[in-house]
Amino acid sequence: MSRLSAREIAAAVNGGASATKEVEAALARAKADTNNAILRVHHERALAAAKRIDVRIKAGEKLPLAGVPIAIKDNLCVEGIEVTAASKILKGYVAPYTATAVQRLEHAGAVVVATANMDEFAFGSSNETSAYGPVKNPIDPTRIPGGSSGGSAAAVAAGIVPLSLGSDTGGSIRQPASLCGVVGMKPTYGMVSRYGLIAFGSSLDQIGPFATNVADAALCLERMSGWDQHDSTSAARNHAGLAQLASGNPFGTLNGLKVGYVAEHAKGLQSEVGAQLERAKKALTDAGATLVPVSLPHEQYAVAIYYVLATGEAASNLSRFDGVRFGHRTAEAATLPEMYAKSRAEGFGREAKRRIMLGTYVLSTGYYDAYYKKAQQVRRLMCRDYEQAYAKCDVILGPVSPTTAFKFGEKLSDPLQMYLSDIFTIAANLAGVPAISVPFGADAKGLPIGLQVQGAQFADDLVLRVAAGLEQLNRA
Ligand code: GLN
Repeated sequence: MSRLSAREIAAAVNGGASATKEVEAALARAKADTNNAILRVHHERALAAAKRIDVRIKAGEKLPLAGVPIAIKDNLCVEGIEVTAASKILKGYVAPYTATAVQRLEHAGAVVVATANMDEFAFGSSNETSAYGPVKNPIDPTRIPGGSSGGSAAAVAAGIVPLSLGSDTGGSIRQPASLCGVVGMKPTYGMVSRYGLIAFGSSLDQIGPFATNVADAALCLERMSGWDQHDSTSAARNHAGLAQLASGNPFGTLNGLKVGYVAEHAKGLQSEVGAQLERAKKALTDAGATLVPVSLPHEQYAVAIYYVLATGEAASNLSRFDGVRFGHRTAEAATLPEMYAKSRAEGFGREAKRRIMLGTYVLSTGYYDAYYKKAQQVRRLMCRDYEQAYAKCDVILGPVSPTTAFKFGEKLSDPLQMYLSDIFTIAANLAGVPAISVPFGADAKGLPIGLQVQGAQFADDLVLRVAAGLEQLNRA
């Protein structure tokens, strides 16, 4: 992992250390990446930005993320930079504007040094669906890093950057964070503007941070969250608590906290994951928290309804890639319909095609009521489960992934097995609630385990606070 945290780098640069040197070092590390985590390095743009920061600091300005090198997932737009969602169909496509989340981090002094690999259009849990080939897990390169933001997670785990951005539609930040041993958070739906994020499932997508520690994740979230006129689903909220968390010591606040857990979550876990969950529960009670059993009765349907809603929304969102306005256009087509069909057949990979077919089916006349509408109704019941649970507890603690990182190829040929690895992460997206993965122990092979803390809508600062407590308990 990065030698210095984002906050340490910012403090040094604000104190007169060179942002340019910091960024040059990160650029060199990004170029030397051996895990296929990095797709593109933005040498000139990053150095120009670093120089501007050095000038501003010399002039007496202070910036919360001064000179902090970051990597962004290949589905986030930055004006003038190629963005492909790791798909052949968008090869060579240059973004016309910058995503609000990225723009806000740059405004705070962060410098985008590289674009990180991902599953094609964020479809996957192992990073094996990228058109650029899989990312290797830096902890054990024979294993997957998780997905779909595997490159962003691996870039932080390998120490290339202290901070990166991913997107999470059904677990794509938390699951790779867990499998790579870093912190990863999906904020409440609406916390972070999605403007400039290549859409997957618009009612589920959120942008969030990867970091080496919880306070850095809080700082990053604090800087990029808030209302944005370009995203009508973004919320106007005051997140002062996050800033405080990013600088202060939040430990001690666990005293009196009600930590919920779901008994069914312990079933079917790799034994070491279950053991770490038990260790965390005990450590939390020792620190003064109370454990409260809660139930989420409709969670058992989460994977099923997610793969109806997410594929339906993905099929609609991906209909814009037709060879006309963006990316790849086939060289040989006699008619317009043939041009659409061939461009899409040539440009999309297998998993993207599978999702488009599933999504088109669930949205088609005659099936819509049975699938999409029904799934929305169950989704409402899931939201109610959460509301009832949070009447009894402050946060819910559970696993992120049923297993530690698996080997390449282990689940690729069996989509259902792959989809089931998202079993614990999907519910938070369906309910729009915040959830974080925080490293907590390892299995016998030394592969990292992450635990999940979920909270009620817009209780992002509480979720971060509990995660910071777990982080300290894990070290103790
Ligand atoms: N693994 C899930 C999927 O393939 C989640 C992906 C995501 O969150 N982007 O849909």
